[in-house]
Amino acid sequence: MSAAGPQGAGAGTHYDLLVIGGGSGGIAAARRAASYGAKVAIVEPRPLGGTCVNVGCVPKKVMFHAASIAETLHDARHYGFTVGPTSFNWGKIKASRDAYVRRLNGIYASNLKSSKVEYLVGEATFPPTRSGARESPPEVVVGERRYTARAVLIGTGGQPMMPDVRGAKEFCIDSDGFFALESLPRRAAVVGAGYIAVELAGVLNGLGCDTHLFVRRESVLRQTDPLVQETLMAEMRRAGVCIHTGCTPSAVLRDDASGLLTLCTAPRGEDDGGEQHEGFESVLMAIGRSPNVARLGLEAAGIKQGPRGHILVDEFQQTSRDGVYAVGDVTGKLELTPMAIAAGRRLADRLFNGALPQAKASFDTVPSVYFTHPPVGTVGLTEPQAVKRYGQDNVKVYTSRFVNLFFGPFDTAPADKPKTAVKLVCQGPDEKVVGLHVVGMGADEMLQGFAVAIKMGATKADFDACVAIHPTAAEEVVTLP
Ligand code: FAD
Ligand code: NDP
Repeated sequence: MSAAGPQGAGAGTHYDLLVIGGGSGGIAAARRAASYGAKVAIVEPRPLGGTCVNVGCVPKKVMFHAASIAETLHDARHYGFTVGPTSFNWGKIKASRDAYVRRLNGIYASNLKSSKVEYLVGEATFPPTRSGARESPPEVVVGERRYTARAVLIGTGGQPMMPDVRGAKEFCIDSDGFFALESLPRRAAVVGAGYIAVELAGVLNGLGCDTHLFVRRESVLRQTDPLVQETLMAEMRRAGVCIHTGCTPSAVLRDDASGLLTLCTAPRGEDDGGEQHEGFESVLMAIGRSPNVARLGLEAAGIKQGPRGHILVDEFQQTSRDGVYAVGDVTGKLELTPMAIAAGRRLADRLFNGALPQAKASFDTVPSVYFTHPPVGTVGLTEPQAVKRYGQDNVKVYTSRFVNLFFGPFDTAPADKPKTAVKLVCQGPDEKVVGLHVVGMGADEMLQGFAVAIKMGATKADFDACVAIHPTAAEEVVTLP
């Protein structure tokens, strides 16, 4: 931390860039701007690193690995290993995970220092803008101090939402609460159908919790390709997750004697009285996130928001207020760490590197992975999106469904072995690849390279011209019939 804590910096300090929020986007922008010689400060009240480091990607991926190890122990017998009785110590991995996160917090602090970014500990707000002062450099208040800057960047991220139903706030946890759990629940309900619900349901189930996933429509991950939805649901069920579809939470009750929770779900129709699912040690709500804007004073500062509170920005991350920019989850566009980082860096390039006056992040063809069990990798358009954009006659898809060689020696019947599914979505007479979707072992590490090719405009013929790496699951993508 620099000497410039909220008490350390003199009132009236002026920066080239003042960043609000020490998460993925804010830190990336701050360090990039400082690398061009800009005078930069970053304001953050909590440990550095934001959601990703503290309660997101990093601790989630650690738990993903823990569940994957449990799967491997389970599968080892098929490879001739006799694995004696095993036990799992949640407290041990939680302590190691927390220590790792604390180490990363420290590394982020030293990175700021070595990049010559001042670190102001505190919460930032915009003071109400005096009328007629919209054209002057924006001001920010941290504690008792006021700062001005040529540019202010808002990168305050988001927070988990709770449904507005009885008992949810009192008795349920969200993803932050999941990372605070001191023990593995024996039986848990996970509510939601997006990234966090499917990922954390996979972790809980993999580690031995009796896991029930409640989805209000008929499928998880409805924004993904139908092949992904079907395959993932089937494979999660095969792995033991009990998926309840058509279930919208209506209340959560707690039995005082046992402490166990009951999840009530709303009636599905006129003749239905709803359902009660009992006996949960934990009910985890994962129904989406809302932007961290409540205490920023945006309205008074003339910074416009969308209907769900996200800060409105143009393609250059410019808000409605001169000199104020926003990146990352607070803008509600592709809430992914690398997206926040890319937007932050491009903004710093544009503002502080005279050679890059048009720099902006591309939100097109962004690959992403769902760290489910099994994982899902996806980039570009789904088949329905491609058909909508180009017309049915201009879209051709190639699919494959197969058993990964890893499961070959298993003594289970072929029909019962986990399946991998691949879909390549192509467009036009030259079959330009516009989408790739993979579900199955290894999908998480497979997509990055293919995404480069797709971003560069590769065609199906380009994929076919690349000699396969054998034996891998990835070779299926370049050998689709
Ligand atoms: P954040 O990283 O959230 O940082 C915002 C910071 O602003 C916070 O540190 C906050 O304390 C601070 N702040 C808020 N208000 C103020 C204020 N008034 N003054 C000063 N500071 C303030 N993305 C992936 O790409 N891959 C994944 O595997 C992945 N897994 C995830 C798992 C979970 C459980 C969750 C919740 C998210 C996951 N994400 C993942 C999403 C990813 O974490 C976010 O997209 C990313 O962290 C957004 O970065 P950001 O810079 O916009 O905000
Ligand atoms: P998402 O927006 O991904 O999914 C939430 C889903 O919950 C909705 O799509 C909706 O699905 C369902 N839902 C909404 N309201 C209710 C309700 N009242 N009752 C029941 N279900 C409801 O949010 P998440 O919280 O999962 O994740 C937030 C974001 O964080 C993600 O969008 C992603 O950008 C990021 N993230 C990225 C990860 C990664 O890269 N691997 C991992 C984790 C998070 P439906 O409409 O189908 O019912």
